[in-house]
Amino acid sequence: MTRSRRPLIAGNWKMNGLRADALALAKAVADGVKRSSWGDREVLICPPAQLIGLVADAVRGSGVLVGGQDCHPAANGAHTGDISAEMLRDAGAGHVIVGHSERRTDCGETDAIVRAKAEAAWRAGLLPIVCIGETLAEREAGRTLAVLESQLKGSMPVGATAARLVVAYEPVWAIGTGKTPTTSEVAAAHAHIRRVLAGLTPDAGLVRLLYGGSVKGSNAAELLAAGDVDGALVGGASLKADEFLAIAKAAQSG
Ligand code: PEP
Repeated sequence: MTRSRRPLIAGNWKMNGLRADALALAKAVADGVKRSSWGDREVLICPPAQLIGLVADAVRGSGVLVGGQDCHPAANGAHTGDISAEMLRDAGAGHVIVGHSERRTDCGETDAIVRAKAEAAWRAGLLPIVCIGETLAEREAGRTLAVLESQLKGSMPVGATAARLVVAYEPVWAIGTGKTPTTSEVAAAHAHIRRVLAGLTPDAGLVRLLYGGSVKGSNAAELLAAGDVDGALVGGASLKADEFLAIAKAAQSG
């Protein structure tokens, strides 16, 4: 990990948290970050949309960043139940996850939709974290790198640069399962992603690539030390302040 790619540890709370729990968790993360000496990395939490304002207020001044978990491509309009990037920004978000595999699966999101969401994030002034990753069947068929390449090419908006976008590699079979690829498999996937990025952005070497999938305090140092890994996208373990802070701390030595 070079100094030019500032480590990013992002927590995806998914559909978890009521106001009281969210407040306690956000404050505990903010306190941990304030007590730390981690000037060299970014810590981001992505609560459910209705908690963004509350969480943004709770972490203000701590350096902890706040993001959304998804956004609609449009700025407003007749899209019942959806939320726009502008609304996330207005609520206090600076980042947004797009193309998470749970949305690709649950909501049928295609690469083209993910790309439109990343463009919406730019329109609103948010930094999109574009997620890609292979399923178990794709991995077993030996198609991992081909799938990553095709998802990346389909999901990346034209005009992407390192300052405007983060990519998260999340093998679908590793999310929430306790299973992880080996560090050499992670490094090979990230190296391939960076090679593909070279054809899509002028500064591929500076784009931050996060690994996501069953990252926890006990495996974070190893996964974060893998080649071309610039941080982590963390689901389950981001719901426990101690675990999440341990992951953020591990980025130090990555
Ligand atoms: C995720 O949902 O992005 C994720 C990586 O989940 P988990 O850490 O629980 O595997």
